[in-house]
Amino acid sequence: MKIPFSQISTAGQQYSLDVPDIDTENEIFSLQGMTSLSCKLTRKGSDQILVQGRISATLLLTCDRCLRIYSQNVDAGLDFICEINGSRYQGVREIDLTARDLDIMQLEEAVIDLGEIIRQQLYLSVPQQRLCAHDCKGICPICGADRNSSPCRCSGVPIHNPFAVLAAVKGK
Ligand SMILES: [Zn+2]
Ligand SMILES: [Zn+2]
Repeated sequence: MKIPFSQISTAGQQYSLDVPDIDTENEIFSLQGMTSLSCKLTRKGSDQILVQGRISATLLLTCDRCLRIYSQNVDAGLDFICEINGSRYQGVREIDLTARDLDIMQLEEAVIDLGEIIRQQLYLSVPQQRLCAHDCKGICPICGADRNSSPCRCSGVPIHNPFAVLAAVKGK
């Protein structure tokens, strides 16, 4: 859904969007079920739009340790400014906005693309460290077994290779 700045008033208007399927065009996450965005768009001067609302979605992520796919719910508030690329350096900034430390999304043209807002917010909600569980045991680096399912046979054997130490000394 694309909304030109010209359709957004200073009084603000509510929008909501439910999307069954979004092409995320990436390998970091995919989506499960419906993704919902509801937001209020308010015009702040000729080249700035205030976006406030909520997004909810279920991300499917790959665990960093065991490589299994797990789901993570996203329910996040939105509060940022969309402005036309570069306008910050050309004109006078709205006074009430400078007082608040809001994030700014730069746009190429004076159009709010709600689909693009969803994509960006989902990217932002992907955690740095992706774990299916905080105590995920991961995959054994020796035998490759998933240690969440069953302890592997090499558990308890200390990983110590005297030749690796020797190689490191020689390399100096
Ligand atoms: Zn895991
Ligand atoms: Zn093992």
